[in-house]
Amino acid sequence: MSAVDQNSQDSTAFISTEKHDYPELRDAVKRICADYPSEYWRKLDDTSSYPTEFVKALTDAGFLGALIPEEYGGSGMNLRAAAVILEEINASGCVASPAHAQMYIMGTLLRHGSEAQKQKYLPKIASGELRLQAFGVTEPSTGSDTTKLKTRAERRGDVYVVNGQKVWTSRALYSDLMLLLVRTTPIEQCKKKTDGLSTLLVDLREAKGKGLDIRPIDAMINHNTTEIFIENLEVPVENLIGEEGKGFKYILDGMNAERILVAQECIGDGRWLLKKAVEYANDRVVFGRSIGQNQGIQFPLARAYMELEAAELMSRKAAAMFEKGLPCGEEANMAKLMASEATWKAAEGAMLVHGGFGFAKEYGIERKWREARIYQTAPISTNMILSYIGEHVLGMARSY
Ligand SMILES: Cc1cc2nc3c(=O)[nH]c(=O)nc-3n(C[C@H](O)[C@H](O)[C@H](O)COP(=O)(O)OP(=O)(O)OC[C@H]3O[C@@H](n4cnc5c(N)ncnc54)[C@H](O)[C@@H]3O)c2cc1C
Repeated sequence: MSAVDQNSQDSTAFISTEKHDYPELRDAVKRICADYPSEYWRKLDDTSSYPTEFVKALTDAGFLGALIPEEYGGSGMNLRAAAVILEEINASGCVASPAHAQMYIMGTLLRHGSEAQKQKYLPKIASGELRLQAFGVTEPSTGSDTTKLKTRAERRGDVYVVNGQKVWTSRALYSDLMLLLVRTTPIEQCKKKTDGLSTLLVDLREAKGKGLDIRPIDAMINHNTTEIFIENLEVPVENLIGEEGKGFKYILDGMNAERILVAQECIGDGRWLLKKAVEYANDRVVFGRSIGQNQGIQFPLARAYMELEAAELMSRKAAAMFEKGLPCGEEANMAKLMASEATWKAAEGAMLVHGGFGFAKEYGIERKWREARIYQTAPISTNMILSYIGEHVLGMARSY
């Protein structure tokens, strides 16, 4: 399907009564996902492995280049269409997170990279020749307090010499490139704490073993996440994205798109969990009747459904505003928070309904339940969104 077809839909589609927009796109995603059943994901989960074949299939179909403009070899879709791809992957029982970051990390390069950088990288990212799946922001000692991050890049001639440490850098072992947020001017020398940070595009293929060491983290979900130790790593100055010292602004610019994509991906998990819960509730007979006949089973699922629908509306609204170039920080953040909580209700509902069988790996419920918890923590935690709404939307005093 061409980009023109994808974009022909009115971006105010969030007010339409259509249950699932972009039906052809959804069908195309579902067809790929059908080749990757629950068993495939269970094996990867058991061995903490990366779904290389699945990510390749998505790339070959043009889905991971969804947001790359056609002039750079991408599919040139709008944000809502890209969000629908991630939703449908998860709603099919597959896992979008091994590939989702490429969609939003690429945005920093697209919006702030030089023409030469875009020509060099974007066509190869769109074709799958290069993977841009890693985004190094979080650090062990500073966490959510991003502007205090300690990874330092000092310019020496044609290179930046980088020293520091990142944590929870997902997919770094399965990516060719990493977008790295570093401090180029010490915070004491900056007027604002948000100044003096810069974004570097690190070629992991060259960096590994030459100042960069990546170690996997054994985590609750199979997110292929890592910690990264950086010692005297040399990054060519030509790999600086945009202007030195403006990196924090560039990262913030991409946040709304990231929130909207993640919200919709999360809703996909919620839909899958709810569907499985309802099927099981209707099939499982205990005390001579289906368990779904009991209101104690029905009500939590009905509530999760309603909250998912509300999150979906907010997510559509945020995407429509984004596409019109309107400020949408409020809507994007609310969509992400609402989606994370609605999906968690669906996950809890699915565990409730499945009883003991919810714990059996064969059913896939416990895996999705674990995976559904991440949205309350990453890429931004619930409390940070609540304080954003409290301060920037409702106008109360800053708490940090
Ligand atoms: C599986 C996984 C994958 C991830 N992938 C990536 C990645 O690819 N790249 C990357 O850069 N990061 C990644 N992260 C990191 C993630 O973005 C952070 O974990 C998250 O932003 C929270 O930071 P933290 O863990 O340091 O928590 P902290 O900042 O230490 O906070 C701990 C808790 O305290 C709360 N808190 C902190 N300050 C306040 C306050 N002032 N008021 C109220 N509550 C507060 C937080 O909301 C949180 O709940 C990933 C994390 C996980 C778990």
